[in-house]
Amino acid sequence: MKLYNTASKKLETFKPLSDVVKIYTCGPTVYNFQHIGNYAAYIYWDLLVRTLIANGYQVKRVLNITDVGHLVSDADDGEDKLEKGAAREGKSVEEVANYYIDDFMKNFRALNLKEPEVIARATDYIEKDEKAVDQMTANGYTYETSDGVYFDTAKYDKYADFAKLDLSGLQAGARVGFSDEKHNASDFAVWKFIKPGEKHAMRWDYLGRPGYPGWHLECSTIIHEELGEPIDIHCGGIDHIPIHHTNEIAQTFAAYGHELSRYWLHCDFITIDGQKISKSLGNVYLLSDLKERGFSPMDYKMWLLSGHYQGTRNFTFESLEGAKKRRLNWRARIAECYQRKMNETDALDGYYNVLAAVSNNLNSAEAFAMIDEHMISFGDWKKIDKLFGLKLIEDTPDVAPEVYDLIHERDNARAEKNFARSDEIRDELLAKGIALRDTPDGAVWEYI
Ligand SMILES: [Zn+2]
Repeated sequence: MKLYNTASKKLETFKPLSDVVKIYTCGPTVYNFQHIGNYAAYIYWDLLVRTLIANGYQVKRVLNITDVGHLVSDADDGEDKLEKGAAREGKSVEEVANYYIDDFMKNFRALNLKEPEVIARATDYIEKDEKAVDQMTANGYTYETSDGVYFDTAKYDKYADFAKLDLSGLQAGARVGFSDEKHNASDFAVWKFIKPGEKHAMRWDYLGRPGYPGWHLECSTIIHEELGEPIDIHCGGIDHIPIHHTNEIAQTFAAYGHELSRYWLHCDFITIDGQKISKSLGNVYLLSDLKERGFSPMDYKMWLLSGHYQGTRNFTFESLEGAKKRRLNWRARIAECYQRKMNETDALDGYYNVLAAVSNNLNSAEAFAMIDEHMISFGDWKKIDKLFGLKLIEDTPDVAPEVYDLIHERDNARAEKNFARSDEIRDELLAKGIALRDTPDGAVWEYI
């Protein structure tokens, strides 16, 4: 299996440290609905997990949920996003977080994404965050200002490496008067103090005053607690490279003395009708908006996987229509495939070619083109469906894979002259609304 590693900027043959591949995905900040562009990353990383499993690996994946500490700006100023959501909706921060976590998980399931082994809420790791700050401080990487504990990026000589940052340029471009107490423009808060009179519902007493963790810290802490570094693969969006992931790497080294991750995968953005997704442009679509227009979450997934995670994808409703057609065509082919008794034939090695394409840096676009062009046996369709998680068989049309298995089992029972079992299965299928007609070539089925 090959993956493009952002750290080395090379396509590398993937070799995990053990049979269980340790993966971490930066998750959502739960203060608002996630739009279709937000779900793109989770769909891409779901394909990564499924491809690893198809290649014989086990996976332990951790996803964090940011329910405190993510400021409106990445530069340690502005409001906490959760506080902002609570004020907007007249709810408590916990209520806001719980509401949007539920919505996120509901859509996660609607997209048929494999649930991560661990879903970690940032607020469950505060004590561990404090311990990490203690260790960074003991190791000489932090300093205190009037509004928090800051990471001194000048103390970590590899700080600029990951994102190839121009630190002197950054220093020169720093806003005048912005946090005079910061030693370097790239320094960031690992802990923020709450000033007297400042409204902030989520607060923890640490260093003798109320405060809360800096946004980047939770990822370093959760990885340390749940996976142990170095992990095999760290995933995120390209917007995470210069600040969030750079800071995670620095913190992990400063607190624990370890490299954070061996491979880094970053996905690019989704644009809509050629423009970036933003409220002011009125193009913030949710999955529920697509459903209202007659599209299944699987159509969106199909559209997304017809391109590559490293490319900017431009979403239009015309292209979504195309993806829907392709999905319906595939479903029709699956139904036909069974009727034509293509259950056992595997002459074209359809699945293995498809898996090989996806194993090459998740090239699902090439795999989809192969599927379009080649005959696929029913057995291969089953494997392909599992690889992409598109629910093709489950939805074809409203028939679960077990039904196909039953039909197949009945054919075998008849071949072995086990008519009692064959009749039993026929009745079971009739109860599901499926009638069978025996022909010299085997049974064909139809809905009644
Ligand atoms: Zn993160």
